[in-house]
Amino acid sequence: MFQKLHYELTGLCALITVGILTAFTLLYLNISEHTLWENHTLSFQHDFDTICSSLEQQQTITYQYLLRMEQNNGYLLFLWDNEQPLSFNLLESHLPYSALADSLYASYAKQNAMTSTAEASFHEYELHSEKGFVGISGKGLVLLVLAPNTAFHRQLLSQRLLFLLLACIASVILILFAFLFTGKLLRPLQENQKRQLQFVANASHELRTPLAVILSSITIKPPRYEQTIEQEAKRMGRLVDDMLLLTGLETGKSDLSYSSISPDTFLLNFYEQTEVFVRQSNHFYSLELPDTSVPTFLGDSEKVKQLLLNLLQNAVSYTPEKGRIVLRLSVLPKEICFAVVDNGMGIASEKRDAIFERFYRADSSHHMKEHFGLGLCIAKEIVQSHRGRLVLSETPGGGSTFSCYFPIASVAEKS
Ligand code: ADP
Repeated sequence: MFQKLHYELTGLCALITVGILTAFTLLYLNISEHTLWENHTLSFQHDFDTICSSLEQQQTITYQYLLRMEQNNGYLLFLWDNEQPLSFNLLESHLPYSALADSLYASYAKQNAMTSTAEASFHEYELHSEKGFVGISGKGLVLLVLAPNTAFHRQLLSQRLLFLLLACIASVILILFAFLFTGKLLRPLQENQKRQLQFVANASHELRTPLAVILSSITIKPPRYEQTIEQEAKRMGRLVDDMLLLTGLETGKSDLSYSSISPDTFLLNFYEQTEVFVRQSNHFYSLELPDTSVPTFLGDSEKVKQLLLNLLQNAVSYTPEKGRIVLRLSVLPKEICFAVVDNGMGIASEKRDAIFERFYRADSSHHMKEHFGLGLCIAKEIVQSHRGRLVLSETPGGGSTFSCYFPIASVAEKS
């Protein structure tokens, strides 16, 4: 599905960019050809005037002189002396154009006869269809200058070919760019879809076990089966609650009710509420608060409590009995930090990113029925929904420290 979408987006992107490129190339080519044509016209006009004035200054005109003029300027010269063509007109190089030259001369002569009263000599140039420029001048001795367009057309053709080549190269680059660009654009979507599918697969797998236990309990009815069913149903309920909370946090649908929280009072209350539970699990439990006054922050107290509870439950689960668990509050210039510190089994550095993924459980926690592998994922989402960050570090001497940073500035921003 994504591959098809990738090709379609590439096609669309390439079509638009190549279309724009083609339009601009044609526009530029048009302007460039127009300028070239104007320059060509001006250059002929200038050369024609120069040839005419040069001829006028000559006492005697030799064929060598005329040939030199032709070679120097790249034009063809035809001459008539008192209406008689010079044999210079019959040179082999002139033959393809001699019919044209004759007809031009005839029309000139006709026009000149009509204006014969005028003393001024005839001197003009024009573009003669596709053949090129024509300049005609004189009265007794008539000079006709032909500028065949072949060289100019060659120049135009090579310019068009160059533009075509450049446009082709640019199009290939644009298509390649469109392919890479749309690929990059689709990658997060692809990864997201993969994660969603994995989530559904994992959730189904987690729900299947309690369901199987319930079904077999109903069929076999072992001793205290009602209790087993109740336990498994509660477990399923917890998992569904966790999944709903996580989905709500991720999609931003979980409404957070913000209030100003005094971190030291909040942590003290949390400590008191959880003290019995931690001590029952046979761990040393303590609270560390700063001596100085602590600024408040804006947060959803229920969600922050849930976050700390997730971290605390993990600390209890992954710290051997008689281990030490500390709740610590510290104040930084722009943040306050709640830390849950344990001196338990710790987390290997290669697993530190993976533990925040959904349904990730280290091998050791697979047999623990209470652990679904969603706790840290939920914790991270709660912190991030408060624009904070959750950082895992190693406790000095061994164990894990989870630090939750909440911005103090958010108080000002949100109020
Ligand atoms: P679980 O429900 O398995 O605890 P979590 O998302 O809370 O899921 O944690 C994911 C994994 O991170 C756990 O399976 C465990 O391997 C590891 N982990 C979490 N907290 C700690 C801790 N305090 N000490 C050691 N390992 C931990």
